[in-house]
Amino acid sequence: MSDMKFCQGTKCHQYRTKDRIKGTKGSKTYQTRRRSNFYYGGDNFCSLNCQNDWFNKYGDQAIDHFGRTTVAKHLTKENAWYKDYGWDSNYETRNYIIRNGITNEQRPLTEEQFDDINYTLNTGE
Ligand SMILES: [Zn+2]
Repeated sequence: MSDMKFCQGTKCHQYRTKDRIKGTKGSKTYQTRRRSNFYYGGDNFCSLNCQNDWFNKYGDQAIDHFGRTTVAKHLTKENAWYKDYGWDSNYETRNYIIRNGITNEQRPLTEEQFDDINYTLNTGE
């Protein structure tokens, strides 16, 4: 099967579970899990243990590679907008809004704006 892939856990093969035993009698080994999809770490790990094993081994290198946070980030009024919704008094109609978490200002949104993952009033990260 072409879309099968291996768990990226560095110690996956060291967890001795029955489903990891592969091979013919006399030459069986515990092997890295192989599946069409995984539930952890963005579809890369078969378990939280495997995700943690990978991070413990490579996490520092990955953070250094992509950029380590060295100063505090700030949530300001320029990047504090978040989408929310409430219900009308009959609980029949959703009222979509965008609210600023710093100023508490809120503005109405259309359902299309609410559903559009690219729609934002934020101008910073
Ligand atoms: Zn694994």
